[in-house]
Amino acid sequence: MKRALRWLGAALAVLVAVLVARGMTATSRQITAPPADSLPAFELDAACERLSAVVRLRTVTDSGGGAFAELHDMLADRLPGVRALERRDFPLGALYTWKGSDPTLPPALFLAHADVVPVEAPQTWTHPPFGGVRADGLIWGRGALDDKASLMALLEAASALRSEGFTPRRTLMFAFGHDEETRGQGARQIAAYLAEQGVRAALVIDEGGVITDGLVPGAPGPVALVGIAEKDAINVRLTARDVGGHGSMPPPHTAAGRVGRAVALLEANPFPLRITPAAAAFMDWLAPELPFGARLVLRNRWLFGSLVRARYGATPKTAAQMRTTTAVTMLSGGPKANVLPKQATATINFRLLPGATHEQVLARARQVIGDPQVEVELIESVSAERAFVTDPDGPAFATVQRAIARVFPEVITVPFLVVAMTDARHYAAVSDQILRFAPLRLTAGDTDRIHGTDERISEADYGAMVRFYAQLMRGLQDAS
Ligand SMILES: [Zn+2]
Repeated sequence: MKRALRWLGAALAVLVAVLVARGMTATSRQITAPPADSLPAFELDAACERLSAVVRLRTVTDSGGGAFAELHDMLADRLPGVRALERRDFPLGALYTWKGSDPTLPPALFLAHADVVPVEAPQTWTHPPFGGVRADGLIWGRGALDDKASLMALLEAASALRSEGFTPRRTLMFAFGHDEETRGQGARQIAAYLAEQGVRAALVIDEGGVITDGLVPGAPGPVALVGIAEKDAINVRLTARDVGGHGSMPPPHTAAGRVGRAVALLEANPFPLRITPAAAAFMDWLAPELPFGARLVLRNRWLFGSLVRARYGATPKTAAQMRTTTAVTMLSGGPKANVLPKQATATINFRLLPGATHEQVLARARQVIGDPQVEVELIESVSAERAFVTDPDGPAFATVQRAIARVFPEVITVPFLVVAMTDARHYAAVSDQILRFAPLRLTAGDTDRIHGTDERISEADYGAMVRFYAQLMRGLQDAS
């Protein structure tokens, strides 16, 4: 007995030593880099004027081509550097190319979208949503953050570099979709064209992650979240059918009742939380920057896995990183209160973790519902199921991280999974180095402005975006 206890004690001591050692030895993945190169040709005030003019164009998705044509005319008109780029138009997008001096180098591809979501209650805005008002050091309006800031900052950076006599060795391409917020057909058209031309890009960078302030729990400062993958989405319809009849003599379950029960079961049985490779990368990069206790837990997931899952599962925001999510979004039943419905339906929006297949999600839904009278069918798949995770230890991530370190030295860079969808999902055939990051600084309050009320960007932050893209364009010339 005594001997057994001694053994147990020794085993515990070893375990504690291993945990502590793993917690202590977490090596930081952060880098230090020289300050950003100067960009003397860039004039912030004039650039802010141009962004404000572009915000005034009502490029609401599905509003027809007029506003988009006007946008591209305006770009050519106001930015001399853009006029010098080669432009190819697509039905729902445009591709600008800045030819590099070395055609043997794979190009880099920058994505942004020119469309914006509609405005629901313009009267609630501080400044008119399509006014492009500049006030208090801010540029106000729909698209100021999502995604006209990126589109314009990319072109401002290219234009400034060009007027400073910079010529890229590697070809730089800029692809702008006109319907990212709805179908992403523009991105699909451009990607198909590039694939057909045999283009393999060294980097594809799109929106998705940002520089967050106070949004990553425990982080000692701002964190640049660089998306290495994004979720796939599918819409699934549940249908129950019945003979109908009068409400006075109902069977135990009506069609509406069956669908209601199915929906309740799906909500009561969410997908399990999983530490996927993307979530693991996030934790591995973040852990060394955290206080000892949190570091100890994240570095010892083999033991504390359930604790980590419980912690991340506690809020919808973090849980979405670790599970395929289930959102019941639409319901319909009978046409009249006293008539038994002949048919009832529910629509479920599933957001899939990388690696999950449509078939798996449908099979699980059928199993959870367990009612053969409820039909489960896939009605819409938003992507082509070719999602992959970009290696955070690969060359593209390193180049982006270096540009972040040079322009935002106080910021920690961490890879993560983007839970929304971006145009980048269409470019899987063009590159295996796809990253989703726009150098926007966002606080918790700002995230509600995207697609919401009072969207705006600080002029200083906008200037930093231009500097970031210029640094990245320069840095890409050294990368292999
Ligand atoms: Zn966007």
